[in-house]
Amino acid sequence: MYSNSLVELDRAHLVHPVASYRNHEKLGVRVLASAKGASVTDASGKQLVDGFAGLWCVNAGYGQESIVEAASRQMRELPYATAYFGLGSEPAIRLAAALAERAPGDLNHVYFTLGGSDAVDSTIRFIRYYWIARGEPTRDQFISVEQGYHGSSTAGAGLTALPLFHAGFGIPFDWQHKIPSHYAYRNPIGDDPQAIINASLAALRRKVEEIGPERVAGFYAEPIQGSGGVLVPPKGWMKAMRELCRELGILFVADEVITAFGRTGPLFACEEDDIVPDFITTAKGLTSGYVPMGAVFMADHVYQTIADGAGAAAVGHGSTYSAHPVSAAVGLEVLNLYENGLLENGRKAGARLMKGLESLKDHPLVGDVRGRGMLAAVELVVNKEKKTPLPAAADPARRVFDRAWENGLVLRAFANGVLGYAPPLCCTDGDIDAIVERTRKTLDDTLADPDVR
Ligand code: PMP
Repeated sequence: MYSNSLVELDRAHLVHPVASYRNHEKLGVRVLASAKGASVTDASGKQLVDGFAGLWCVNAGYGQESIVEAASRQMRELPYATAYFGLGSEPAIRLAAALAERAPGDLNHVYFTLGGSDAVDSTIRFIRYYWIARGEPTRDQFISVEQGYHGSSTAGAGLTALPLFHAGFGIPFDWQHKIPSHYAYRNPIGDDPQAIINASLAALRRKVEEIGPERVAGFYAEPIQGSGGVLVPPKGWMKAMRELCRELGILFVADEVITAFGRTGPLFACEEDDIVPDFITTAKGLTSGYVPMGAVFMADHVYQTIADGAGAAAVGHGSTYSAHPVSAAVGLEVLNLYENGLLENGRKAGARLMKGLESLKDHPLVGDVRGRGMLAAVELVVNKEKKTPLPAAADPARRVFDRAWENGLVLRAFANGVLGYAPPLCCTDGDIDAIVERTRKTLDDTLADPDVR
């Protein structure tokens, strides 16, 4: 068992993100103590395969000594340098250059943040600066996609499609709008890929018409909707939406906070989608969770327009830890690891993961299996024909998460009974097979639970 004192201290003092405080007090914290490769060990010594890479972020896996060395070297030499006042540090400059070289097309300008939420928030500001500079200040309306997640900053939470994040704040603001998701498994128009793409195109056109074409500033989409339940759009969806935004004169933001850095295969999912957006937002895999950092990639024309618009005046956006040298040093080493074996291993492991999860389709509780690369979901139902979700009253997410934990597997269990997978890219065949086998055991245990049917 864990040290009682830690559980008590946590209960008394640590406020957890997106948690029922009361349930958490009742259940108590699970303390993670150490980790190596794709495995984590809790404070009681129990070892589990981390099928979710922390919070879809530890892409490089745990215990990478070269990352630890890069961070400690940088801490010793220069632990902090502001990027205000025209100052900078070598790792931040080198990381910006290395990322710009690898990003699709002309996304050559990188603004560093602390994570994904402030990356998204930064794009809202940059987009507004862009339109003001272009002499079109009335373009102040933003569109995103239902089931999308774009962080929990006050402005970004309005682009996020989670009512839980909205109540009490007057968000979504009246300048934030949504179009329906491409979610194929439960789409009222069916699952035909071209029909889904056409419906999304028509919905965006309609929305822009409704708002007023001269009012719309930007459109946000994830290459794969992560927190919405790993919803993979039909092939060609991102490209079609990107092209429509170009036609309508709207800036296109690809939110790659989850999908970048090998999660779906390449460094950027946009490469597979064959698009060059106006912005890409990233975080998570950028530093593999070893230290916090996010990044906004800006296309040349966006950067040049904002720069010309501001002229000699400062662009009003920044934070103390933007371009943090320790995070940047970590980012450089993580990039090195991706390009020296990890991306390749992730591609192989991803193919094995998808094959393994597909094999669960024969299970009575499995309604849908979807994913790309090392990003996948299994959607649970109690009736396959009717696609009946697990009864919400039974708190299936909690039950499945607990059972998986008992079986030695960390996964993401969404409230609606969707299981999310985003293992580290360093997974061995054995790790992947353990994820699949332990999922099957967890499904069998869940099936045997009378409250979940
Ligand atoms: N955008 C997307 C697509 C995300 O998945 C997330 C986090 N899961 C965010 C933004 C916010 O990132 P963070 O939690 O680092 O603030």
